Amino acid sequence: MSVMIAGSVALDHVKTPHDSQQNLLGGSASYAALAAGLFCDEVHLVGIIGHDFPHAHLSLLESKGIRLEGLERSSGASFTWSGEYHNDMNSRTTHSVGINVLENWVPKLPAAAAAAKIAVLANMSPDNQIQTLDQLQGASFVAADTMDLWINIAQARLNEVLKRVDLLVINDGEAREFAGTGNLIEAGRRLLAKGPRYVVIKRGEHGSYLFGERPEQFFACSAYPLESVFDPTGAGDSFLGGMAGWLAARGLHQPTFADLRQAVVHGSVTASFTCEAFSTHRLQRVTAAEIAARLGELQAYTRF
Ligand code: AMP
Repeated sequence: MSVMIAGSVALDHVKTPHDSQQNLLGGSASYAALAAGLFCDEVHLVGIIGHDFPHAHLSLLESKGIRLEGLERSSGASFTWSGEYHNDMNSRTTHSVGINVLENWVPKLPAAAAAAKIAVLANMSPDNQIQTLDQLQGASFVAADTMDLWINIAQARLNEVLKRVDLLVINDGEAREFAGTGNLIEAGRRLLAKGPRYVVIKRGEHGSYLFGERPEQFFACSAYPLESVFDPTGAGDSFLGGMAGWLAARGLHQPTFADLRQAVVHGSVTASFTCEAFSTHRLQRVTAAEIAARLGELQAYTRF
């Protein structure tokens, strides 16, 4: 079963307390596609890059079997994002965003991407998410991500997205802001009321909460306990891509709550690898054995 992932493909400039690197492969769709590809062998990426996008980044995505027919190549400049992490690695400052090729982009889904049974609307403008939704033909499970920027400047369009997706994945600060409450459990319930059947609230190093339609449908997932976090950029996108890839690999395009619990655990473990190096450097060399080992450890650490 295939997965379609639409979102940003970026050049990231990242500074942490330990190091700083420029022109890294970044973007919500890049991370999510590489993560999905760890589980599932047909991943279609939909995005746009500019003339300045390094060939090495494209080769990396290709070498991992990511299908790039839906990656538009423009003569403009690539989307760029520049951010800095502070001492605890949980707080991040965005220094600059170069919208560039994303400015007037309208996603165009090739037939194979439009036919995917599982679709991921990774972080991008709600307009782009709606344009993608309008072209989906085969999807029976659609998951979406978002960020504070869209909650602030495009909330009405974001609400339209939420009425049309099955799962919203969002981080804790954004969930509080969007739902208008400091309590995360209440936030999860309020976000469900906006339309999706399931909501995941990501809590960084503290794990994640999964909410379903019925009150008893609640699952608290731990994060894998990492001793050293090098660069958490893309952890949320890897979490979502890992979930979608795992569901697709098992043919679960109409997942139950129990299936989503498993998907969340796989997303959580996938995201842990992303944090261990800059950009996609760790994610791109994770093995199935390493994933299995972390799943086993996480189970042992959280069972009681
Ligand atoms: P995360 O750490 O999971 O929030 O994702 C970080 C990635 O999101 C980076 O690689 C950025 O290139 C990308 N990103 C940042 N801002 C935006 C935006 N406004 N639209 C799309 N992607 C973005």
